Amino acid sequence: MTDPAPTTRILAVANQKGGVGKTTTAINLGTALAEAGHPTLIIDLDPQGNASTGLNSQADERELTTYDALAGQASLEEIMVGTALDDLCLCPGSVDLAGLDVELSNDSMRVRRLGDLLSAPALRERFEFILIDCPPSLNILTVNAMAAADGVVVPLQCEFFALEGLTQLLETVKQIQKSVNPRLCIEGICLTMYDKRNRLSSQVEEDVRETLGDIVYSTVIPRNVRLSEAPSYSMPALLYDPHCAGSEAYRALARELIGRTETPRAA
Ligand code: ATP
Ligand code: MG
Repeated sequence: MTDPAPTTRILAVANQKGGVGKTTTAINLGTALAEAGHPTLIIDLDPQGNASTGLNSQADERELTTYDALAGQASLEEIMVGTALDDLCLCPGSVDLAGLDVELSNDSMRVRRLGDLLSAPALRERFEFILIDCPPSLNILTVNAMAAADGVVVPLQCEFFALEGLTQLLETVKQIQKSVNPRLCIEGICLTMYDKRNRLSSQVEEDVRETLGDIVYSTVIPRNVRLSEAPSYSMPALLYDPHCAGSEAYRALARELIGRTETPRAA
């Protein structure tokens, strides 16, 4: 089957390690893409729902969520809400997602649920980028995201154990390539929470670049307090403080990502 609209790029933001910057990256990269005129949809696939609250969708106000869509009770268009930016939409998450693994255990096609939802032509006509914020696990939710995606964006925190667990993530990507989604690739690895005053950050960067080569984005996201404050105002950092170092870094990442999309690499 050929891809109905090759212009839509679906990216899973994934790393089974917790707290490495997945949600911060999904929100702010998504905002940067939308700000640059590329209609973008963020899908919150994490029961924690942090991407949703960070984009001003409060848990008690959400009517339909990605849970309803994955459970087969709604389309993504039905659950979608707007954000402060015209070109940025959100499919909010729900704590109910945590039970999906068990609920779908008898469905042999369960890994394809998100992919099936995302094949809707109207979505592909409307959005240039679809970013999926994954939970800190390689569970059915992350596997659904990878089964539906063209590429995986991996945020990697600049800390001593940065590379730990990456082998398992890369192995999962390979297995999904083999079994359900041959077009899946590692879109890029993004170093996050880089502290230029700390020698450890530059050592980790050197180590990661040496080990993983040019799959690592040259853009590095600095440790920046504005990025961590913005969610408490239910805003992307790019709107909360448009010119802080973190916002500028996510804009640079968006430019780099768009550049790579225009000149695709071999998988
Ligand atoms: P989880 O695995 O729980 O979903 P995550 O990988 O999505 O976590 P985030 O929620 O994006 O990670 O970030 C973890 C914490 O670090 C949050 O409090 C966030 O605000 C903060 N944070 C993320 N990136 C940065 C940064 N570059 N500078 C400062 N703080 C950051
Ligand atoms: Mg998160």
